[in-house]
Amino acid sequence: MSDNSIQTESVIIGAGPAGLFQVFELGLLGIKTHVIETLPRPGGQCSELYPDKPIYDIPALPICGAQELIDRLMEQIKPFGAQFHLAEEAAQLQRRDDGRFRLVTSAGTVFDAGAIVIAAGVGSFQPRRLSLESAEAYEGSQIHYSVRNAASFHGRRLVIFGGGDSALDWVLALAPKASSCTLVHRRAEFRGAPASVERMRALEAEGKLRVIEGLAQGLHGEPGALRSVTVKGNDGVLHELDADHLLVFFGLAPKLGPIGEWGLDLDKRAIKVDTEKFESNIPGVFAIGDINTYPGKKKLILSAFHEAALTAFAVQHHLYPAKKQFLQYTTTSPAMQKRLGVAGA
Ligand SMILES: Cc1cc2nc3c(=O)[nH]c(=O)nc-3n(C[C@H](O)[C@H](O)[C@H](O)COP(=O)(O)OP(=O)(O)OC[C@H]3O[C@@H](n4cnc5c(N)ncnc54)[C@H](O)[C@@H]3O)c2cc1C
Repeated sequence: MSDNSIQTESVIIGAGPAGLFQVFELGLLGIKTHVIETLPRPGGQCSELYPDKPIYDIPALPICGAQELIDRLMEQIKPFGAQFHLAEEAAQLQRRDDGRFRLVTSAGTVFDAGAIVIAAGVGSFQPRRLSLESAEAYEGSQIHYSVRNAASFHGRRLVIFGGGDSALDWVLALAPKASSCTLVHRRAEFRGAPASVERMRALEAEGKLRVIEGLAQGLHGEPGALRSVTVKGNDGVLHELDADHLLVFFGLAPKLGPIGEWGLDLDKRAIKVDTEKFESNIPGVFAIGDINTYPGKKKLILSAFHEAALTAFAVQHHLYPAKKQFLQYTTTSPAMQKRLGVAGA
């Protein structure tokens, strides 16, 4: 066993609303946890797919923005100090002979965990890729789906694809600093914030940005050294654009990913669980939120919260089978209040 592994009582896979509330419910019972999330920020579907939309069916919150819900959950779980491993995908999971788990992430982080809660929603969000032959040869070096180091694009010839907020934000940040910048979008209408569209049009009027309505059609260069990209305009005109880098922002699509290879009983890409403990066919591996399925399952945040509460007790029992379990109220339990940091309140 690797001595570098992180020893922990539990690991939660996924930082959507289900995973975040699981931190809370485990924390109330005094169980420490680590959270692994593929994306660079917590929030799952709420933050990625509909951050500005109001949600109306969270108990006691007549209206709550989706990002606001995530911000509130992050605030609520603060006392428990769960460690987040963002921009890492849970890649391998093995049950050891002693019943503990070895979990390895895409970044090589290794956990030695007593229990695993999979809260992976509809799967890992992956960027939608540029579907052109040979694109793969340039990915990571000249074709990018996210920006890690903006300064590396200064003074370069850039072609940015997409029509949402990410594409527009990077156009606004990079066009004034690039040697040339072209924005390619398949339609005349942009989905991004109107103020960003206005500023993008201003850059175009100043001659700092070229905007083409059309689609990428071909890449030119030697393996590993892209020279240009051909874009076919919606008017049928072909443009060969010299480019050092292509930045592609076509949004994110969920993919079940490695979870499908861990020997879990699945039903149409969802993990089958019971409704007492939300445990999978592998003892000690639990699944909550949109990733699980059972008779009557409804993919709602409310259901995920309920599942997290019962799963916390099941995890506790799995870790400490001899421990007597009893229900405590946050209103009156000194132990819970101490964990919440409100003791004596
Ligand atoms: C437009 C829209 C509106 C909605 N409105 C409502 C509403 O009004 N009310 C309501 O109750 N529900 C609503 N929903 C549904 C709700 O958003 C989901 O039920 C909820 O997000 C499920 O939470 P989750 O944490 O299970 O999964 P997700 O929110 O999908 O989060 C799962 C997280 O796990 C991560 N992940 C996956 N695989 C891995 C891996 N291998 N390693 C690391 N991380 C991984 C993903 O990147 C993701 O961040 C709506 C959904 C949409 C799309």
